[in-house]
Amino acid sequence: MSEFTRFEQVTVLGTGVLGSQIIMQAAYHGKKVMAYDAVPAALENLDKRWAWIRQGYEADLGEGYDAARFDEAIARITPTSDLAEAVADADIVIEAVPESLDLKRDVWAKVGAAAPATTLFATNTSSLLPSSFADASGHPERFVALHYANRIWAQNTAEAMGTAKSSPEAVAGALQYAEETGMVPVHVRKEVPGYLLNSLLIPWLQAGSRLYMNGVANPADIDRTWRVATGNDAGPFQTYDVVGFNVAAHVSRNAGADWQIGFADLLQKSIDAGHSGLADGQGFYRYGPNGENLGPVEDWNLGDKDTPLG
Ligand code: NAD
Repeated sequence: MSEFTRFEQVTVLGTGVLGSQIIMQAAYHGKKVMAYDAVPAALENLDKRWAWIRQGYEADLGEGYDAARFDEAIARITPTSDLAEAVADADIVIEAVPESLDLKRDVWAKVGAAAPATTLFATNTSSLLPSSFADASGHPERFVALHYANRIWAQNTAEAMGTAKSSPEAVAGALQYAEETGMVPVHVRKEVPGYLLNSLLIPWLQAGSRLYMNGVANPADIDRTWRVATGNDAGPFQTYDVVGFNVAAHVSRNAGADWQIGFADLLQKSIDAGHSGLADGQGFYRYGPNGENLGPVEDWNLGDKDTPLG
């Protein structure tokens, strides 16, 4: 079985929200990176991505941020829309294309046919099981999931999770790669939907929204209880604001119970009114220009109603 211990040349598929961060994180840690995207406009947009990520590094990394090092990292990145060229010399391919099973199967079939026999394959899928498309690559034994959280330089876990067909060497390689690129490597020992983070986070968020949808308490009171009694910084509704209502509504609607669909409808109403969470200044709370919490939005309060729906 092959060992995966040398990661000089990295290929990232998809240069969107997460792909661009994975690219920069690798380049900033000295890797040469091929940045592949099928959509030319995405590659043209990369300078804007670097500017946004640079701001994040500067704000969050303190002395770990070095402007010259960031410039050198940009110079180590080669954008391309040629998949065969992108993977030709790859030690690891990390895929961050949109969350569609058919699309991922199609992309991995092409990568499997074009990449060298020594390349480690990794997907950053959030909600699909990697075993549902690992076989499309033709090499499920060297295929793993390596899951990052948004703003990966700061929230820097990398969850490495194999499928039943992944070799232990492939999982070990992903953990080593994560470590080499400034991440906190997390070993998920069995395939599970949602990895560790979302397996913990989603039920906790749902417990909060369920209390609210049953008319038990207002969002700000649920959050306050959690903060004061546990010493944590944020309750579930503050966290919904950070996650963003688009993702939260999608997850809640898919969960399928009546109260979850009702909660998704309320989030959607807020999105339609231009309030989708911290990113646009208002969700369950209002935020100032630097993201400071200015207090709860009263409209979410139950008032005289038994439940938020009436
Ligand atoms: P995104 O829509 O921002 O980016 C996807 C990119 O893939 C776009 O640049 C698009 O042009 C490109 N693309 C489309 N078709 C392609 C193809 N056939 N080949 C190559 N590139 C193609 O999406 P995202 O938010 O970066 O998510 C990408 C993956 O990362 C998904 O699997 C998602 O579940 C996962 N993820 C996202 C987050 C997040 O917070 N956004 C967090 C963790 C994991």
